[in-house]
Amino acid sequence: MPYASVVLDIPTRALDRAYDYRVPPQLADEAVVGATVLVTFSHRAAVGYVVGLSADAPAGVDTEKVLEIEQVLAPSAFDEVAARVIAWLAREYACPLSEAVRPFLAPGQKVKVSRADEGSPWEIQRDQAGAVDDRWVELADASYEPKSTASRQRSVLEALSAGPMRLAELSALIGSAGAAVKSLEKHGAVTVTDRRRVRGSMGTTLSSARAARPEKLTDGQVRALAAIRDAVARASGDCVLVDGVTGSGKTEVYLDAIEEVRAQGKGALVLVPEISLTAQTVGRFRSRFGDDVAILHSRLSAGERFDQWDLVRTGDAHVVVGARSALFAPLSNVGLIIIDEEHEGSYKQDQAPRYHARELAAELARERGAALVLGSATPSLESLERCRTGSYRGTRWTRVEMPERPGTAQLPAVTVVDMAAGFRSGARSIFSAELVASLKRVAERGEKAVLLLNRRGFATFLMCRDCGCVPECPHCSTALTYHERTHELMCHTCGQSWPIRAYPDPTTSCPNCGSRFLAAFGVGTQRVEDELKMLLPDMEVIRMDADTTRAKGAHQELLERFDAAESAVLVGTQMIAKGLDFPEVTLVGVINADTMLKLPDFRAAERTYDLLEQVSGRAGRGEAPGEVIIQTWWASHPAITAAARHDRSRFEESERTERREAGYPPFSRLANVTFWGREGRVVEKDSAAFATELRSRVDGLAGWEVLGPAECIKSRVKDRIRRHIMVKAPLDADLGPVLSACERSLPGKRGSNMSIDIDAYDMM
Ligand code: ADP
Ligand code: ZN
Ligand code: ZN
Repeated sequence: MPYASVVLDIPTRALDRAYDYRVPPQLADEAVVGATVLVTFSHRAAVGYVVGLSADAPAGVDTEKVLEIEQVLAPSAFDEVAARVIAWLAREYACPLSEAVRPFLAPGQKVKVSRADEGSPWEIQRDQAGAVDDRWVELADASYEPKSTASRQRSVLEALSAGPMRLAELSALIGSAGAAVKSLEKHGAVTVTDRRRVRGSMGTTLSSARAARPEKLTDGQVRALAAIRDAVARASGDCVLVDGVTGSGKTEVYLDAIEEVRAQGKGALVLVPEISLTAQTVGRFRSRFGDDVAILHSRLSAGERFDQWDLVRTGDAHVVVGARSALFAPLSNVGLIIIDEEHEGSYKQDQAPRYHARELAAELARERGAALVLGSATPSLESLERCRTGSYRGTRWTRVEMPERPGTAQLPAVTVVDMAAGFRSGARSIFSAELVASLKRVAERGEKAVLLLNRRGFATFLMCRDCGCVPECPHCSTALTYHERTHELMCHTCGQSWPIRAYPDPTTSCPNCGSRFLAAFGVGTQRVEDELKMLLPDMEVIRMDADTTRAKGAHQELLERFDAAESAVLVGTQMIAKGLDFPEVTLVGVINADTMLKLPDFRAAERTYDLLEQVSGRAGRGEAPGEVIIQTWWASHPAITAAARHDRSRFEESERTERREAGYPPFSRLANVTFWGREGRVVEKDSAAFATELRSRVDGLAGWEVLGPAECIKSRVKDRIRRHIMVKAPLDADLGPVLSACERSLPGKRGSNMSIDIDAYDMM
């Protein structure tokens, strides 16, 4: 009898391993890798997942004592390769195996077991978002006579004599009809047609969805495709970084590359940031690959997600386009994994398993013998560094540059407006004179404009409105965060704080220039919208932010309105910066370029640069030349001067140097361990115990650094006190296993919660 290793669906560190069970003969076909099973674990029912099978008893197993799998609760959702990736995920990101399994399960699958008392049968609660089964069964040969014993078949034929019927309805009518229909189909008595109307597929109404395949590829596109072709042929997880300016035709490269792997009979996973997963993007994939495309993202209902997932599982769709969770789609023959806008912070999952999609994709590509393609106009320093080195963890990393836009489209001219200078000469408006003049020009010519209001890091700092200076911690060179409630300035790296009147001296004035205009200031999109309407009364203004896009489909609707308008201004937060391709946009304005720069986050400058470059890329995609106006209080910052000149290499150089000196990624790995709980003292004690344990483990090891515990920036969330520990480790360190070991050494019953976030992006 074969043996199965089963991960229990109990996310406790103490049970965090695979347990061995025997597969009884009657379950041999079903209890395969990826199946959800019912087992007994220390006299109780438990749900588990099969992650491995072996013909013989595994070493060290007492065959007398091994229990049998009792039932199969859900069919296989993942294969052996995925099972290896699950083990990798748990190890690399220090999460329990059961949590690493979960994203691979069918969307919406929830199985619970219980029983009233010993001896009574298990009660199984299954809550599965089922597919809308739209398989229709129709009578094909009315003369067919089933065997006299086949009463089910008779009932099916009887039911169908009235006309075609859904298989699901047949089953509801006569009890499970699947097997009977199958054998009737074999005998030609009935036909089954799949008219599954797949829920949640998106329309393709936006302009560029209609765009045809270009006549001739650019030189850059040809080079990128050649590199991808090589990587696909090597089938060993090699990576090609397509480093192409916005509008250089990266998406076109993806489409052609997918076409090539499809011709080889392999499939492709395509990740785009959630926010740019619009009908416009999807439309381009659909118009090339039609129904071969499945779409997975978080705005779908569980049922819709299941339908799309199931299309992949059944082999009806081979191109999966989705947010980061598309990596878990049950596609086994993968030739290509593509991550568009690979620098995006949203590729980091912020709940367990806290993986980074780039790293998971790299591992998956290696395991599946696929090629990894990363695309961006502003690649992450991590990816650039790997390409510079040429290899990473045994795979080859190649960078292909696409510095030009096809045809006549030009990168827009960028003007930086120094708001501090304007302020000194009396300007008090949200809009600079330059921006107002350009907006008026757009209105007169009946063109379109996009205005970005950078919300990140807003109003949490005091900033001098004369010189743009932000008070910093004297010990950490971290911007101090302004806490309105306590009227304090706080350093979230070392934990020190100052009442606002004591920093830097009893007057609330700028430590740099002495100005009294030191204030937390904030403007909302609403106010920008209002002021725009006063400024340009005849212009249509469309606002896109968290408030206006809450409803399902609202995001889409606003974009369609902008697309359909003759002339309009689109005002919004970060969500408008990505992926939009509207050729008529001739002006892009950034209202406040620098709010992010002083966040206590080592990626602040990179994020600012990325955002400016991305949003600039929205202008001048068509025939008309584009113009970009960046308003800033910090005109001299390298991220801003570099974006103004589209000069990324210079920005990279300075950023690289800083990161290397400070020991930040890409030169190290970073983890953020957070503790939270109702009682501050318990949180303090537990976090301190963890830090002590960790320090004792890595003491004397080169490249390790343990900082804290310190209070988190969000020091209190929902009445929970939060503290964190930052860990820097060398690139090749076993960061996950070390942190898991520390966690295991803490007492199991604690008064606080903790999370381990490896490759952390959000350190708040
Ligand atoms: P990116 O993904 O790099 O932003 P896209 O693939 O969206 O760029 O291309 C930008 C625009 O240029 C699109 O409208 C696209 O149809 C068009 N395009 C792409 N490649 C070519 C080409 N080789 N010739 C002409 N137009 C092209
Ligand atoms: Zn400090
Ligand atoms: Zn100042």
